[in-house]
Amino acid sequence: MRKVAIVGGGISGLTVAYALLSRNDNLKVAVFEGDKRPGGKIWSDKTHGFLFEKGANGFLDNKPRTLELCKSLGINPLRSNENARKRFIFSREKLNVLPESPLAFLKSDLMTWRGKIRFAYELIAPKGPEDETVADFVKRRLGKEGLEKLIDPMCSGIFAGDPYKMSIRHCFPAVKELEQKYGSLIRAMIKLQRTSSPHLIPLSSGERGRVRGKVGLAPQGTLTSFYEGAQAITDALAERLAGGIKLRTPVLSLATHGSLYQLYTPDGVVNADIVVLATPAYESAEILKDFDRELSKSLAGIPYAPVSIICFGYRRDKVGHDLNGF
Ligand SMILES: Cc1cc2nc3c(=O)[nH]c(=O)nc-3n(C[C@H](O)[C@H](O)[C@H](O)COP(=O)(O)OP(=O)(O)OC[C@H]3O[C@@H](n4cnc5c(N)ncnc54)[C@H](O)[C@@H]3O)c2cc1C
Repeated sequence: MRKVAIVGGGISGLTVAYALLSRNDNLKVAVFEGDKRPGGKIWSDKTHGFLFEKGANGFLDNKPRTLELCKSLGINPLRSNENARKRFIFSREKLNVLPESPLAFLKSDLMTWRGKIRFAYELIAPKGPEDETVADFVKRRLGKEGLEKLIDPMCSGIFAGDPYKMSIRHCFPAVKELEQKYGSLIRAMIKLQRTSSPHLIPLSSGERGRVRGKVGLAPQGTLTSFYEGAQAITDALAERLAGGIKLRTPVLSLATHGSLYQLYTPDGVVNADIVVLATPAYESAEILKDFDRELSKSLAGIPYAPVSIICFGYRRDKVGHDLNGF
């Protein structure tokens, strides 16, 4: 029997372990997790009757594989209702609904009139290079206010990213493709909304999917989670793997001995035929420091945004808002 060691018990490591065990009887799979709990950045917490997500809120249902995984694990996804499509952006001292139609855009207080008029220039703005930063792309097409009011919140919300550093082609490939194909995002939107046939457009994650006449910067698909919170999926995976997960067991470094890998942990050395690193790049860089200096250096160079999560809970009767949006 071949031994597989998976380092990291977040959703990546747990899913790899589950997939390997489901498809191959000839493998002995062990997951090494440094923390005292599996799940990594998926972490739902119930406190005083509130359900807090300390990491991921959910997933988009346009990826069939996630739904297939839920089915295989016997857990029921819970899709958000239509209200979740309505986005609010806090600007000019209040929550503004993200306009969904040209008329709503004109009526909205989100942008100044100057900013709105600048949008008209989008129709004739020149095409940009094959790739550029999100900020350069948006400033060229929609103006500086469009960047600050519409796109920057999205970059922070989806990527915890800085639009001045992010690549438009990699972060919003669908939008870049529309510019290249139609010359203008507004023209593309009008054309696609008129057509009733499905269009093949790349989704924001870089995947391709069929979306009926839908265009926009927001990711496609419906935000989906579980009644008990996002952690239901990693809990279900961990339950299936049961004895195969070694908690509080960080892997410190990696070496080879003959044809085997050796994983160094505080509890001793573990041998394996195959090793999967499902750890953040900076952690993988540490593990590989003495094993492959070049690879370790490349991994260490991948930037991660620092994020703090602060959860607030309010009693419903203390909130005047309809709570009909995101
Ligand atoms: C605040 C926040 C919100 C997010 N929201 C969403 C969302 O709504 N939807 C979405 O799809 N994605 C979201 N994401 C992204 C998503 O959570 C991550 O992409 C995903 O959880 C990463 O899973 P992973 O298993 O690859 O890594 P991680 O979850 O980081 O797991 C890595 C695991 O490796 C362990 N580890 C590290 N070093 C070692 C070591 N040396 N030895 C052993 N174990 C080690 C860690 O303890 C951890 O458990 C969000 C991320 C954050 C931070």
